[in-house]
Amino acid sequence: MKDKVLIVGSGVAALAAALAAQKSGQEVTLVVSRPGASALMSGTWDVARDPHRHATDAWEDLRPARKILPLIIRQQKNHPYSILQQSMAIEDVGVFLEKAIVEFAQAIHLPLVGSLDESHVAPSGWGTVKETSFVPKGLAGGNVLKMNHAHLLVVGLGASLNFDADFIMQSLRGYKNNNYFSEIKTAQLNFKKSDFSSIFDMARWLEEEEGENQILEGLQGLVKTHQPTHILLPPVLGLEGHQRLYDKISEVTHCVCFESLATPPSVHGWRLQYLIAQAVEAHKISMVHGVVKGFKREGRLLRVALMENGQETMGVPFDLCILATGRFMCQGLEKRGSFFQEPLCHLPLFDGEQWVTKTFSGKLTRKAYFDSHPLFSVGLRVNSDMRPLDDKGDLCYDNLWVAGSIIGGYATAWSGCGMGVAIGTGKLAGETRGQ
Ligand SMILES: Cc1cc2nc3c(=O)[nH]c(=O)nc-3n(C[C@H](O)[C@H](O)[C@H](O)COP(=O)(O)OP(=O)(O)OC[C@H]3O[C@@H](n4cnc5c(N)ncnc54)[C@H](O)[C@@H]3O)c2cc1C
Repeated sequence: MKDKVLIVGSGVAALAAALAAQKSGQEVTLVVSRPGASALMSGTWDVARDPHRHATDAWEDLRPARKILPLIIRQQKNHPYSILQQSMAIEDVGVFLEKAIVEFAQAIHLPLVGSLDESHVAPSGWGTVKETSFVPKGLAGGNVLKMNHAHLLVVGLGASLNFDADFIMQSLRGYKNNNYFSEIKTAQLNFKKSDFSSIFDMARWLEEEEGENQILEGLQGLVKTHQPTHILLPPVLGLEGHQRLYDKISEVTHCVCFESLATPPSVHGWRLQYLIAQAVEAHKISMVHGVVKGFKREGRLLRVALMENGQETMGVPFDLCILATGRFMCQGLEKRGSFFQEPLCHLPLFDGEQWVTKTFSGKLTRKAYFDSHPLFSVGLRVNSDMRPLDDKGDLCYDNLWVAGSIIGGYATAWSGCGMGVAIGTGKLAGETRGQ
């Protein structure tokens, strides 16, 4: 008989769990509410970044994620990848993560480029660069490591906030090895329309005929003047039709065109969240809209999710539950008074090995400005099946699994493991339901 699996969350981890549970024959219901961290991601699909490397070190020394994973597993015993490794050989962790990411991208119909054996170095909207393993196809042309004496034109678009082409040019010129670029220039493209209320407003306009024509004509003019090989644009080329626009720009300019990474609010993140919503419908995953406020329990079993949607309250019964509720920014974790907790099931939080109890919370402070802060990595402790554990190492509940950034032991946004952990743990939590 099929189990009724309730998955709480609307991000990457929840969808990865839902797809895996559905594939293993379970009856899946997804609780959908607001977007979380997945809608803020900068555009790269990170799996593992060398924790000892400085951002301005020479890019030739970059080690790809497959080489970094064993280091993380050996050195960080509470990292989710180290937990995964308890049930598989160390070299299989990379194989598992790569497969999970590729399958996930296919399921949401996102053309993703990259692998764990190659590094991709992508310019951000600040002119800094970020290394990663995978990027959506539209960013692939921006891999600085593959540029060879490129003539890069950084194009600012009128009214596009947070993107200063001159600043980006200066920053990129500052990197140590400049064989990648022969020349970096800037140009500004001003549209007849300038009253955009947000970057999303501008992205939508560029999907319309008027916007598309203006950017294509404008860029053709700039290419005639500056003769670039590559064009770097702010990340605003549409929310749904951007791939078509990249292709058209490349066709009319004969240049490699790519967008920069984004800082929040992020068009890349919004595109991802949109694809997640589309995939839930396309895969016929049943949904219930609202916010879970708590659970009815019977001993060590969670039985019914108590939900609110506006004025409406309801109870959703289930056999098994997967929490993929994220971190502090979307209330997956919370601090109430001086007490840190997971609010729905009151699961204990850990800072490394240490249980974050009421008396311990004061120890989460740091004095040195540049220390990595424990609040970034505090979270649930799990076993290798993604089941949450208490301070004695025992299961908290008999029918509860967790997935994604709610799990502790790594800094979700800064460690360079964001998508890898969210998708890998989501897939594992969903798969283990079928066993
Ligand atoms: C600013 C920022 C930028 C980042 N950039 C990158 C990047 O470029 N590359 C990368 O690889 N990683 C990046 N990361 C990390 C990555 O985005 C996250 O690790 C990943 O998206 C986490 O996915 P998740 O599904 O665990 O959580 P989320 O996407 O946060 O989803 C949690 C979901 O749970 C829902 N939820 C919470 N409580 C309830 C409740 N009670 N009832 C119902 N629903 C609930 C929330 O509404 C939300 O939808 C970034 C993170 C941040 C914060």
